[in-house]
Amino acid sequence: MQINQNSNATTQLVDRFGRRVEYIRLSVTDRCDFRCVYCMAEEMQFLPRSEVLSLEELYFVARAFVELGVNKIRLTGGEPLVRRGILTLVEQLGQLPAELLITTNGSQLAGMAADLKRLGVDRLNISLDSLQEDKFKRLTRTGRLSQVLAGIDAAIAAGFKRIKLNAVVLKGRNDDEVLDLIAFARTKGLDITFIEEMPLGAITEHDRAEVYCSSDELLQMIMPVYPLIDSADKTGGPSHYYRMSDSDSRVGFISPHSHNFCSECNRVRMTVEGRLLLCLGNEHSMDLRQVIRDHPGDIEVLKQHLIRAMDLKPEQHYFDLDDETPQIVRFMNMTGG
Ligand code: SAM
Ligand code: SF4
Repeated sequence: MQINQNSNATTQLVDRFGRRVEYIRLSVTDRCDFRCVYCMAEEMQFLPRSEVLSLEELYFVARAFVELGVNKIRLTGGEPLVRRGILTLVEQLGQLPAELLITTNGSQLAGMAADLKRLGVDRLNISLDSLQEDKFKRLTRTGRLSQVLAGIDAAIAAGFKRIKLNAVVLKGRNDDEVLDLIAFARTKGLDITFIEEMPLGAITEHDRAEVYCSSDELLQMIMPVYPLIDSADKTGGPSHYYRMSDSDSRVGFISPHSHNFCSECNRVRMTVEGRLLLCLGNEHSMDLRQVIRDHPGDIEVLKQHLIRAMDLKPEQHYFDLDDETPQIVRFMNMTGG
């Protein structure tokens, strides 16, 4: 992040409910080297290259957002680190007056963590659902735990400000590992957030209602072993954080089902084909690719569209796990989770 006077600018992006949008999550690819069971179907159709924004177009959109007062950019996907040329984009984004973050599955970090740090990435979120090789494989279908653990160590060695682990917890699949995952986070000096599965995209691998594991159930499991202290810590996201008296690691919960966080929502997302999504759990969107390609290089036109798009942001999401056809047909890898 490069600091200048803009970094304190107030955002010009305000929605109909008075929420200020200061955070953009950019999906830089829909592709991934993993096939996590909650995120993708086993066989996926990925976008043809012509429909995907170029690195230049991605940077252009990020710049427009920052000029409007956005102060936090997260690169996600799919797996952002498998996008060809990603380091070039990171280098450019690293010069903007905004915090730069990446959410990754960790598979490429062993070789890339030091470069990401050098090029200006401030923080990393690394997904880790299991510490057992066979279970990790079943959950990610194609992932290798040892590769991710090496990636986590490389990220720690690179000296990132704060690294957070993300674990999606599914009952009967990895809920028995919650305490082990906390112990791992404590040993490594990392934060960890447990996420309730969201019904994005149609999957057949499991019944989402059956494996639903609420954050409250997890808390009951954790408290006798690690007495968590409720905290008001915020990292600008939907996580509710707890601290522990004997460790710097924080334990967070993202609970889209059990604790709705929409009233504090400060973010929007853009899919890699340039669709601006105003809400994770709704289809309200604007086609920015069309705007960019109809007005090449005209950042003012793009900014006007972004300001106008705020009127489309819905008040909140409604997820229904019992609904057999998901309301949201796009998968998480398309959404930029
Ligand atoms: N590939 C990267 C990764 O896995 O960290 C970034 C993209 S991934 C879509 C971002 C986050 O979304 C991951 O932490 C993943 O566990 C989470 N995720 C994916 N599908 C989800 C779902 N259906 N419900 C809740 N979280 C999900
Ligand atoms: Fe890939 Fe991340 Fe989705 Fe897993 S959660 S399939 S790593 S995009």
